Amino acid sequence: MVAAAAARVSVTLPESVSSGPAADKPSHWANDDGTLFVNPWTSFRQTSLSDLATMMYQVNIRAPPEPISTTAASIPVHTPDFTYSSSSSGKSIPAEQIKATWLGHACFLLELPSTTPGQRGVRLLLDPVFSDRCSPSAWVGPKRFTKVPCQVEDLPEIDCVVISHNHYDHLDIPTLTRLLAHQNASPPHLFMPLNTLYALPSALQQGYNTTQLDWWSSAELAVEGIGRARLSALPSQHFTARGVFDRNKALWASWSVEQLLDGDKDTQGLDTKQVGAKVWFGGDTGYCSVKDGQHSVDPQAPVCPAFKEIGEKFGGFDLGLIPIG
Ligand SMILES: [Zn+2]
Repeated sequence: MVAAAAARVSVTLPESVSSGPAADKPSHWANDDGTLFVNPWTSFRQTSLSDLATMMYQVNIRAPPEPISTTAASIPVHTPDFTYSSSSSGKSIPAEQIKATWLGHACFLLELPSTTPGQRGVRLLLDPVFSDRCSPSAWVGPKRFTKVPCQVEDLPEIDCVVISHNHYDHLDIPTLTRLLAHQNASPPHLFMPLNTLYALPSALQQGYNTTQLDWWSSAELAVEGIGRARLSALPSQHFTARGVFDRNKALWASWSVEQLLDGDKDTQGLDTKQVGAKVWFGGDTGYCSVKDGQHSVDPQAPVCPAFKEIGEKFGGFDLGLIPIG
């Protein structure tokens, strides 16, 4: 079943992926139609408004943390060299290796290995945020500590964008708008967790080909003349909201990205899939809950079992892009 197709990038979903009501409702669905979600583990503790107020009082008034130095000396910001030119910079990376460039906060430009010498691999942009503030407003709200390492318009051609969840510091509408304008002739495909599309203005909904996936669902991406990859939405312990009235109406996810290689033919003459490089992108996720007033983890606290399940299912990863802080 072809879900979406562009001239350069096409995405295929397995037949088992359906946007309709599930026969057996997954444990992370809070209703029957996949428009409200929960963390189905004892390791998650719901943060109430009073919890948030207590946390804000603790952090801002009672015991504010030491300010973090974000001077250029402590956190240097380098202009990325996307050419990997050995002749000019000595930063050549072999084609068979994964390339990942950290662009601040959770944002990475990920390039999978290439099987053709001298040719790039599939390129993915993860949780791109190039704005100065992560908020509904360009004038108020959390401001980035360090300057952006480059502009959206400096990025090389992107094949797909992956969004972990709809918080403003991970789903940035101005950045997606700039990227669409920059690659207007061949927009990247946009992958998001289930029921995230509503957060996009209509111009972006129409401009991008989008695929929304539930946990443990996969899609295959084929980039003409470049390569193939399998993307899987996987559990994470988090939550979502863009405003006051949409808490957990969109799903949150971590993602696996697997390079797909041409395999042998099976008995029906179809290509079997061989997996090359494997990457896990955490997005935003917790491992267990920390009690009020504590800054260390209780060794008896239950931990989220999803990460062990992910590791067992995928057999480990070559690279993990994991949020800390
Ligand atoms: Zn978040």
